[in-house]
Amino acid sequence: MTRSLTVLGATGSIGASTLDLVRRNRGAWRVEALTAHCSAAELAALAIEFDAKLAVVGDEGCLPELRAALGNSGIEAAGGAKALAEAAARPVDMTVAAIVGCAGLAPVMAAVERGGTIALANKEALVSAGEVLMQAVARHGATLLPTDSEHNAIFQCLAGNRLSDVVRITLTASGGPLRTWSAERLHAATPAEAIAHPNWSMGAKISVDSATMMNKGLEYIEAYHLFPVGLEKLAIVVHPQSVIHSMVEFRDRSTLAQLGPSDMRVPIASCLAWPQRMETQLPALDLAAIGQLTFEAPNEALFPATRLAREAIAAGGAAPAILNAANEVAVAAFLAGQIRFTRIAALVEETLARSNDAPPPTSLDEVLAVDQSARRQAMSLLENSALV
Ligand code: NDP
Ligand code: MG
Repeated sequence: MTRSLTVLGATGSIGASTLDLVRRNRGAWRVEALTAHCSAAELAALAIEFDAKLAVVGDEGCLPELRAALGNSGIEAAGGAKALAEAAARPVDMTVAAIVGCAGLAPVMAAVERGGTIALANKEALVSAGEVLMQAVARHGATLLPTDSEHNAIFQCLAGNRLSDVVRITLTASGGPLRTWSAERLHAATPAEAIAHPNWSMGAKISVDSATMMNKGLEYIEAYHLFPVGLEKLAIVVHPQSVIHSMVEFRDRSTLAQLGPSDMRVPIASCLAWPQRMETQLPALDLAAIGQLTFEAPNEALFPATRLAREAIAAGGAAPAILNAANEVAVAAFLAGQIRFTRIAALVEETLARSNDAPPPTSLDEVLAVDQSARRQAMSLLENSALV
C-alpha cells in the first residue's frame, strides 16, 4: 500500500535524509509536495526525481527559476508564504516538517489544522508557538511524531507506559564541537569551527545551536510541550558520544534509553514507519567499537543558553518565542561574521530582558507578531554592538 508524503524543507539536511529513506523504499511512497526557501534548482531536481505533484519555494522571487527548472515536467509550481501553507494543507498521510526556524510555523500549523500526521523536526515552531500549537493539535486531532533524535528517543521509551509513572526525562547533549574549549577560545570561535560537529551532519543553524548549547535549550522547551510531565522532571546531561539519544526514568527506578547511530535517518524512519518499523540499511550499532559511553553535567557558566531556555519556559507566555527569535537573529549574525560566538547567548539574554512586558500569545498571528517584534529588538541591539 503506498502512502502519500509532503516534505516541508525538502532541500535541507533533514529533507535529504527523509528523501534518502524514500528513495530506498520507492514503492511505499507517493510524493505530494516538496518545498524549499530558494534552492529552486535543487528543489526542481528532487520534485522530478520523486515525481512530486507540487513544488513550492517560500521566497516568491525564486518562483521563475523554479518554473524554468521544472521545464515541461508537468509539476505544479508555486511561491510565497501563502503557497507554503497551502502546500502543507493538502491532505497527505505524512508531513515531514523540516523547515528551519520560526519560518516553518505557519506551514506546520496548516498541517495541524487539517488533522494530519506530522513528523516534526522543526523544533523552533514548537518553541515559539508552544501552547498555541499543542492546543491546535488537540483541537484538530492531529498527530505529532517527534523527529528530533532526543524526542524521538523519549517517544519510543514512553511507548506502552503512563506519563504519570515518569519521574524524570533526561535529554542527552553531545556538547557540540566546542565543549572542551576555554572562555578565551570560545570568544574567538569562528563559524567554521562552530559548525564542525563531531557526531552529526546538520544544517548550519542547528550546528551553531549545538555549539552554543541553545539546541539543547530549545529541545528542553520542545520536550516540555511534547511530554507534559512538568519542568521539574526534565533534565539535561552531556553525553559526548551521542549513542544514547535520551532516556526516561520511571517511579520503580527503571530507566529506559534509546540507542542508535548518530544518523537522523534512524528517528526519521521511526516516524515514517510509525507505529511499525522499517529497514534503514544503516550499519549496526557496534558498542564494543565505541568502547565507552561517558556523561557529564552541562557547563552553564561557559554555555549559558540552556539556562536562558530554562528561564524562558519557566516564565512562559511570550518568553520562549522571544528567546527563539533573538537566537535566530544572533545565529545569522554570527554566521555572517558580524558578532562573536559568545555574543549569541548574550544577545538572546539582552533581548529577553528588554521584552519582558510582552503579553502571552494566544493565536498563530500573535505568536508571529511576538516573533517579529523580538527580531526587531534583537536587530537594534545588534546595530549597537561592534565586533570587537
Ligand atoms: P537546513 O538548513 O539544512 O534546511 C532547511 C530547509 O528549510 C531547506 O529546505 C530550506 O530551503 C528551508 N528553508 C529555510 N528557510 C526557509 C524559509 N524562510 N521559508 C521556507 N523554507 C525555508 O536545516 P536542517 O535540515 O538541518 O534542519 C531543519 C529543521 O530540523 C530545523 O528546525 C532543525 O532544528 C531540525 N533538526 C535538524 C536536525 C539535523 O540533523 N539536521 C536534527 C534535529 C532537528 P533552501 O534550501 O531553499 O534554503
Ligand atoms: Mg536533537
